[in-house]
Amino acid sequence: MLTSHQRQSILDAVDEAFDRQVRFTAQLVSEPSLRGQEAAAQDLLQQVMQDRGLQVERWALDPEELATHPGAGAVAVSYEHTENVVGTYTPVTTGGRSLILNGHVDVVPTGITDFWSRSPWQAEVKDGWLYGRGAGDMKAGLAANLFAFDAVLAAGLRPTATLHFQSVPEEESTGNGTLAALQRGYTADAVLISEPTQGALVRAHLGVIWFSVRVSGQAAHAAEMANGSNALDAAYAVIADLRSLEAEWNERAAGHPHLAELDHPLNFNVGIIQGGDWPSSVPDWCEFSVRASFPPGTSAEDAWREIDECVERSARTNPALAGMAPETRRTGFFADGYVLGEGSEAEATLAGVHQAVTGRELETTTVTGYIDSRVYGLFAGIPAMVFGPVAEKLHGADERVNLESLREVTKSIALFLAEWCGVEAARPGDRPTE
Ligand SMILES: [Zn+2]
Repeated sequence: MLTSHQRQSILDAVDEAFDRQVRFTAQLVSEPSLRGQEAAAQDLLQQVMQDRGLQVERWALDPEELATHPGAGAVAVSYEHTENVVGTYTPVTTGGRSLILNGHVDVVPTGITDFWSRSPWQAEVKDGWLYGRGAGDMKAGLAANLFAFDAVLAAGLRPTATLHFQSVPEEESTGNGTLAALQRGYTADAVLISEPTQGALVRAHLGVIWFSVRVSGQAAHAAEMANGSNALDAAYAVIADLRSLEAEWNERAAGHPHLAELDHPLNFNVGIIQGGDWPSSVPDWCEFSVRASFPPGTSAEDAWREIDECVERSARTNPALAGMAPETRRTGFFADGYVLGEGSEAEATLAGVHQAVTGRELETTTVTGYIDSRVYGLFAGIPAMVFGPVAEKLHGADERVNLESLREVTKSIALFLAEWCGVEAARPGDRPTE
């Protein structure tokens, strides 16, 4: 247990460095780390990890090795420039429990930038919020993990257990970054992921599958439309049948312990649609891409089987498809959901420090999306906690993170790190370099 003096020193150290933390977070946001373009942001993170004296390992994700794992997502892009960066702190004296602090560096596309009030990469601070693509999801958390560590050192302490700082890609598309870190052998006694959770601890998150459906038609002149078969009309028919399946899944979810309270927790999002070549030609192709979610406790395999059957049935029964069998393909996530088991020591420790920092009880929540916590939770049996700042407009225009909540979260992570790993008095040489 920390003394009250140690606690206060750590909290003061977070305050002391907070302006610098915000500036660093803004610098990270201004690196557009879209999928496959994370290298510059990873360079920056590698540098600051090395500046802190961490042993850094950086490697490209290997699609072949990932393919041997049941939790891997389909790799539909090149991984040539898709790299993990992990910084490891090795204690001088070993006493406490080890910890992985994880965050993802990849961000989703900006959408139409004219819909933003400023450039998504400008990283402006205004009225207590930091704006930008990835500000909330989740560069604020990624930076907080490192600044929490700084605060412990700046308080004249050093952890007495191994720490791994993971900056991973692919969280927004497959979950393969964190999975590759696990395959590489990185484990610990607990995992904390500082995704934007509005200051709550994630009790459960959903499983997610990405897939595409390609529908064929028969081309003809628009003047003789009846001689052709319209692939776009056929795609709409398949989408309508998928909507029925979505409704059925939500009805079933009404009985789920972690979803019952939520309105329409399971969403099939048609995120991309393309098809046809010419306004006066009946289109002979259409392809659309879907993100579908399903409850924790249902396997991705089972969910996928139902989706596949739904599309097949659609082809058999829908006149719009004219008997043409659509092709379904997995294109990314193939991930089960996860429920953080209650009663772990890690959770009790986090709840304790959160109470000390905020004066409030740590609330738990269900996230109706995917999070990398399932990787360590399901495949390594390690309690994987997700806890982070207040953020808004995730994946939307004018995404932003609240800085006061970020300060609180950084304090909670710093105290958690110190309590969980244990600390001892440090020598001056252990302090982080600026
Ligand atoms: Zn995220």
